[in-house]
Amino acid sequence: MNIYGLLGKKLGHSLSPEIHKLIFEKLNVNGIYNLYEVSENNIKDVVDKVKDFNIKGLNVTIPYKIKVMDYMDEVSKEAKKIGAINTIVLKNNKMIGYNTDYYGFGMMLKKFKVEVKDKIVVVLGSGGASKAVVQYLKDKGSKKIIIVTRNIKEAQCKFKNCEFITYNDLKNVTNSEIIVNCTPIGMYPNVDNSIVEENILKNFKVSVDLIYNPLETLFLKKSKKVGNTSVNGLYMLVGQAIKAQELWNNIKFDEEIIDEIYDKLVEII
Ligand code: NAP
Repeated sequence: MNIYGLLGKKLGHSLSPEIHKLIFEKLNVNGIYNLYEVSENNIKDVVDKVKDFNIKGLNVTIPYKIKVMDYMDEVSKEAKKIGAINTIVLKNNKMIGYNTDYYGFGMMLKKFKVEVKDKIVVVLGSGGASKAVVQYLKDKGSKKIIIVTRNIKEAQCKFKNCEFITYNDLKNVTNSEIIVNCTPIGMYPNVDNSIVEENILKNFKVSVDLIYNPLETLFLKKSKKVGNTSVNGLYMLVGQAIKAQELWNNIKFDEEIIDEIYDKLVEII
């Protein structure tokens, strides 16, 4: 039995075990996907055990996508450019870090027909997921990326060629169509929170929330109310999981498998 899993701080919200179970069934792989809840102080010890327990692959989630890079033997060229990893492959006793959020985000935009080329895009938060999102937007030719953060100085150290504003200044942004929530605000169990209110959301046409639990966050409910196209993070989650399995098992899936797993998942959650 091959062991895989997810490394993060709090994992009660995760749908990854269900997704990977569906992929294992599809692949006929004898695999198990464990949840590894780890505190900040223990992260290095746990990562060190990956080799001892011969864990074939890990996903990494909030808030360790940047920090865990320090413990890799190698980091892929793409993940280095992004500056965050969400997938670890154990190969020849070496831990190699990759970023599959980038792919998942792209597949989600494609599925829901969100065009980012030549657009001004607002990104909320400056953590690990924002890193993949911002790199994707840059690669696809967004005209301007505005990062909204609680700490402009810190965010400026993490990103190049972006504009930085505080949540207070967000009301003055009236020339952007797309707003992407890359913060955990509104995620289970704190479902009654929204990172921004309707007076802000009405200035956009499309609201994307990377959160997938709940499927409709308060941010998306408020977005719908003001008439925005609203996209949740479930399709991205499935997309990044498929890409991770490709890396772990050295295979290539057809793109349609994302729809297949996504549809099955929507039925069972
Ligand atoms: P992270 O590395 O911890 O970053 C989250 C960022 O959100 C922080 O850097 C911070 O940015 C901001 N933030 C955190 N707490 C906040 C608060 N109380 N108020 C305002 N802003 C706050 O986490 P992550 O890995 O990027 O994940 C972020 C979210 O995206 C999570 O909900 C995660 O589940 C989701 N996600 C979903 C997918 C998917 O496949 N659907 C993939 C990746 C992530 P500032 O310090 O700049 O304000």
